[in-house]
Amino acid sequence: MSRTGFKKYRIVLLASLLVFSLSFISNSVWAAGAGLTKLAENVYSYADTKKSSPQNSFGANAGIIIGEKGVVVVDTLISAKESKRFVKDIKAVTNKPLKYVVNTHGHLDHTFGNAEFSKRGAVIAAHKNCLTNMKKNGEATLKNAKNFGLSEKDMKGTKIAYPSLTFGDRMEIDLGGQTIELIATGHSHSDDSVLVYLPDKKILFAGDVLFTGYHPYIGDGNITEWVKTIDRILAMDVDKIVPGHGPVSTKKDLEEMKNYLMAFDKKAKELCAASKDIKYIIDELKKNLPVRPEAEGLIQFSVMTKYLKAEAGK
Ligand SMILES: [Zn+2]
Repeated sequence: MSRTGFKKYRIVLLASLLVFSLSFISNSVWAAGAGLTKLAENVYSYADTKKSSPQNSFGANAGIIIGEKGVVVVDTLISAKESKRFVKDIKAVTNKPLKYVVNTHGHLDHTFGNAEFSKRGAVIAAHKNCLTNMKKNGEATLKNAKNFGLSEKDMKGTKIAYPSLTFGDRMEIDLGGQTIELIATGHSHSDDSVLVYLPDKKILFAGDVLFTGYHPYIGDGNITEWVKTIDRILAMDVDKIVPGHGPVSTKKDLEEMKNYLMAFDKKAKELCAASKDIKYIIDELKKNLPVRPEAEGLIQFSVMTKYLKAEAGK
């Protein structure tokens, strides 16, 4: 790409980020406060946040698994403020020590609350690429949080805390009376995505491999591998699936997610090869995608970060 082309692209990308943020802010009613939902004995999660906004972690889910030895926390929301709300809700359920945090992947709405847990003694576990990605992008993303619609006040006290226990393929946590399997997906939603599986309870925390009722963020994804990951989960012994965003789900929602991804990818490639008119591309894409009530701004964000970037780089 030429220098001017790159500049133009940057301006368009920044404008897109702004629109993305504003679309969230304009419909932002802070919808937190419902507390944790009980999924099974000793397993709780946030789920089904409505009116997602930057201030409520874009509606990201986060959960806990309680064993004899303590608590495993799955994801930590977007800021110190948000993770303090989470800690409060955890304390309403259990007084056991917070032993581990598992980051399902490195995106800000799943990791920027880490420090509230590490300072309480929790060890942060994640895929090795999650550590690499957070080291590469974490501080810059925090510094530029306004690009995501987050004010200084929203992010007050937020510090990046990196995973200190990383793995490549699989890891098991024995919590005493509860085994937790951490399974790397390969490059699906991101190159650092991890599934958190409780085989005895048939519960799976899927992270952002699954968005239900929310348009997904696709910008860092590999669609082929993502679809394979979904097929892999469909073959697992699982009843309840906690998505990265949206209500507690089932395999039916995974099928819908798979269809969504394939439809998005096919149409976005076609449209971006034929046009650079972002409004036209988004309008046409929407006609071809299922209606999802949350995070419509992510359609444009995904197109800008993945498909138009690929076209511009040709
Ligand atoms: Zn994500």
